Amino acid sequence: MGKAVWAALLAVLSAIAAAFDLPLGWLGGAPPPVETGVTVKVLAVGQGDAILIRTPEQTVLVDTGDTSETGRLRSALRKESVRRIDKLIVTHPHRDHIGGAATVFRLCDVKEVFDNGQPTTTSVYREYLKAIRKQGIPSRTLRDGDELDLGGGAVLRVLSPTQEMVDERGMQNGKVNLNLNSLVARLEYGDFSMMLTGDAEALTEMGILKRHEPEMLRCNLLKAGHHGSRTSSVTAFLRALGADAALVSCGEDNEYHCPHPSVLARYEAEDMDVYRTDRDGTVTVRTDGKTYIIATERGKKAAAGTKS
Ligand SMILES: [Zn+2]
Repeated sequence: MGKAVWAALLAVLSAIAAAFDLPLGWLGGAPPPVETGVTVKVLAVGQGDAILIRTPEQTVLVDTGDTSETGRLRSALRKESVRRIDKLIVTHPHRDHIGGAATVFRLCDVKEVFDNGQPTTTSVYREYLKAIRKQGIPSRTLRDGDELDLGGGAVLRVLSPTQEMVDERGMQNGKVNLNLNSLVARLEYGDFSMMLTGDAEALTEMGILKRHEPEMLRCNLLKAGHHGSRTSSVTAFLRALGADAALVSCGEDNEYHCPHPSVLARYEAEDMDVYRTDRDGTVTVRTDGKTYIIATERGKKAAAGTKS
């Protein structure tokens, strides 16, 4: 089937699915397991991040949204029939990324947890650690250079932070900035790749540019760093990535004004499309490792692309 036909068909299916409040691609009966290909869903969980990745063999969740948005996270996981999470990856210990962890541990059988090992003093972080210990879930820290096998040929290649960055506790101008040590990783499946960035800021992006070869950075899609905040998505980083589109996870009318107009202008200058959860709802990417398609929950736009 041609790409245009496939995109049009998917748009129709999305509209039907949305009209009946069905998960995309599920038009009756139990949702089919993903047998081939990889699906990435940037879940609409308000101002925060929660990204569901399904490979032919594993279910992976990157971040869990905010404490105030656990209702949305719970319904998204139910809608996707997620009961087992092979890998929970926490990019950094801010509330809008670990806030839903307790809910995830309660609802799902979590097999392994990965984070950046950067401690903080908040109660939500203590609760997160307590839950991991209580349930005896194996946990590991990830560092630049690590590779996680997500099964079925999908790999997550970690690009940041380094051990040195974590030892320095993300100090910036005499203050701790936990965003700087967000896990940044490139999801790879065949020729498809997507950069996952947590809340990484300019300093992190520039460090990645220095430490990594250009071919490690090229990708089809970018999960916008720090919810599209102007602290992130510097032009040099965007140029190195050469992504077709930015996927922004942010809340409706959020108080931080994300995505920032200056960042949207940078995306436009780099000829990138923008998908945002506050307007588009959950954004779904499906790839067979050669091409990919993007569909939005609200069915406003669907796009197809190939590795350029
Ligand atoms: Zn955040």
